[in-house]
Amino acid sequence: MNKNKILVTQSSLPNFNEYCEEIREIWDTHILTNMGAKHQKLEKELLKFLSVSNITLFTNGHLALEYIIEAMNLSGEIITTPFTFASTTHAIIRNGITPVFCDINSYDFTIDVKKIENLITEKTTAILPVHVYGNLCDVEKIASIAKKYNLKVIYDAAHAFGVEKKGVGVGNFGDASMFSFHATKVFNTIEGGAVVYKDDTLTEKMKAFKNFGIMDNGEIRYAGGNAKMNEFQAAMGLCNLKHLETEILKRKKIVERYKERLKDIEGIRFSKISEEIKSNYAYFPILLDGYKYTRDEIFEKLSKQNIFTRKYFYPLISDFECYRDNYDSRKTPIAKFVADRILTLPLYASLELDIVDRICDIILL
Ligand SMILES: *Cc1c(COP(=O)(O)O)cnc(C)c1O
Repeated sequence: MNKNKILVTQSSLPNFNEYCEEIREIWDTHILTNMGAKHQKLEKELLKFLSVSNITLFTNGHLALEYIIEAMNLSGEIITTPFTFASTTHAIIRNGITPVFCDINSYDFTIDVKKIENLITEKTTAILPVHVYGNLCDVEKIASIAKKYNLKVIYDAAHAFGVEKKGVGVGNFGDASMFSFHATKVFNTIEGGAVVYKDDTLTEKMKAFKNFGIMDNGEIRYAGGNAKMNEFQAAMGLCNLKHLETEILKRKKIVERYKERLKDIEGIRFSKISEEIKSNYAYFPILLDGYKYTRDEIFEKLSKQNIFTRKYFYPLISDFECYRDNYDSRKTPIAKFVADRILTLPLYASLELDIVDRICDIILL
């Protein structure tokens, strides 16, 4: 571990002995995977934590998303945004569906709900918006558009674990939501993910898809894949879940310090978050628009001091080598503008406030 380097994130780990205690049973049972006791326990705890009625755990968030798209029998076109991680778009493409990119809004970087309707065609079957940085999309407006055009809504909630709006858990919006429990996320199971959904009848498929299509009676009903969360992953989740609220509180303090130091500076902007939202403080992006240094200059200045920020999300998905021949990022001008100016600063529960001050000093100097 390089002690001098400050990375953009650092994975949360429970106390070493706590994890050892949690996995001890595995040595008694020799059950390492295939929906063992840890898996079942984590599923139960997450149902409660998220206050949702259905959940299926996966070995990662990406496969959870791929499989829920398949299970919901979507086809044709899905409206999404290019300002996200590669996974969101890849999951659509890998289902043989065409992603249609909608622009984002400039205040919280989620899908611009005013631009959705223009993109709906007779081929559209769903909207797949992203609660980017944990910022909640305009879920009410999206629900009303979906109802009007009879579309499904799947949220990429990879960043939004633990977020609530007026006391309602983030997993209750739309037909389904995917969460990522990757090592870099607010809550991790090393690698891992889950999908929550409203329609109870999807449970059979979601469970079968992640285990080769095998049913409880041994029949193979579906051409499924393999995406099971193993017992060591689930055990990490059980431990990390216990510390989540404290971790989020620490993150909150760090974000407050950043804001205190960087607020009211001409050319530096934060995401706007409504008072109704209980945030999980997953990321701290700043938008550098007309500041004395460009985003790339700040990135370089900090790198020289061994502080590593991330141009997250840059480039836009529509500018990826695998997509740029088929898309024109000028059609989503706000997303392009933001991608060229956004920088996420280091943020993790154990980040010391002294270091936050040092980062701010470098940005402001
Ligand atoms: C992390 C992430 C994913 C993928 O999750 P994995 O668990 O890494 O597979 C999907 N979408 C977004 C926005 C993410 O940040």
